[in-house]
Amino acid sequence: MKPIPFYSLQAQHQQIEEEAKTAFSVVYNDSRFILGDRLKKFEEEFAAYTGGQFCLGVGNGLDAIYIALKMLGIGEGDEVIVPAHTYIATWLAVNRTGATPVPVEADAQTWMIDADLVEQAITPRTKAILPVHMYGLVCDMPRLKAVATTYKLVMVEDNAQATGASIQGKQTGTWGECNAFSFYPTKTLGALGDGGAIVTDSEECYQRARAYRNYGSTVQFVNEVKGINSRLDELQAALLSVKLPYLQKWNEQRREVAKTYIELLREVEEVKLPRVLDNSYPVYHLFPIKIKKRSDLQVHLKHAGIGTSVHYPTPPYLQKAYESRGLKKGKFPVTEALADELVSLPIWPGLEKSDISRVCDEIKKWILKKN
Ligand SMILES: *Cc1c(COP(=O)(O)O)cnc(C)c1O
Repeated sequence: MKPIPFYSLQAQHQQIEEEAKTAFSVVYNDSRFILGDRLKKFEEEFAAYTGGQFCLGVGNGLDAIYIALKMLGIGEGDEVIVPAHTYIATWLAVNRTGATPVPVEADAQTWMIDADLVEQAITPRTKAILPVHMYGLVCDMPRLKAVATTYKLVMVEDNAQATGASIQGKQTGTWGECNAFSFYPTKTLGALGDGGAIVTDSEECYQRARAYRNYGSTVQFVNEVKGINSRLDELQAALLSVKLPYLQKWNEQRREVAKTYIELLREVEEVKLPRVLDNSYPVYHLFPIKIKKRSDLQVHLKHAGIGTSVHYPTPPYLQKAYESRGLKKGKFPVTEALADELVSLPIWPGLEKSDISRVCDEIKKWILKKN
């Protein structure tokens, strides 16, 4: 049997090989590698794609979240509401501003931050809500936006996993005041290295971030603020410009893969799937299922030549890095069940239907054997 890896970029890379090599040659021959025309071009294209007013390329997704928060004035003494169930980058970006991440439990059905519980976590110190569109699924943005408006909080979306997703026809990463994207290679729009972006409708945020990402400078050797170095380089920008026109098609292909999985697994009692919100358009960066004894299943699938992964085995608050917060096991039962029982199945644009069937057949075989 041909192995089915957890992830493969091969199908995507074959389609763009010639264009990518041309883009590489152009940048190589121009010999301008930082803050040039390629970046400007990609920023304009990406803003247009998302429907946001301004886009700013930065070094990676973590920096994008950090800069977005910082540009909105978040810092020491502030609290930022984050999901308990997320990748640790979301939390780390908050800490880097000097603010405190305040976790909110996941919704047991959607697996996203529970909009009902966000209100209860608000204190006089709360300044922002930072929802994360996990796995390319979509948070309840209309609800979260209403809560933010009521309590006069700003919103920053961690859209690292959901480039191209939308709800009520409006893309994720355009609902908050200043929002973060990651172009980590496996994300729905991936660079050939590290990359990230901020999307905002606020010209002020955009202008401040433009200086901040480049040592606090927009005019050479004139430093208005104490900035950092976090720039999307010309080569990555050129390659992202090659990939962007394919993104819609690739996301559609991810959705097709997900649709097939859902059809084949819906009736399997042992397998739990997330509820997808009405009017939302998820892009399935990953395809996790919830199942008991997941590591046994992973071993079984591995023997069948099928790759899997876990996103994420330990929530941020149970990591050693956050020991000092004193948040103990048992604090967020839904999040902990997700951490214990989710397993991500193979998904990528170009994954064939026969392979998806084989993955599902093996899962069913394992369930029968187990019982
Ligand atoms: C990937 C990711 C990030 C960080 O992106 P990098 O580009 O790797 O820095 C942040 N948040 C979430 C939810 C992610 O999945």
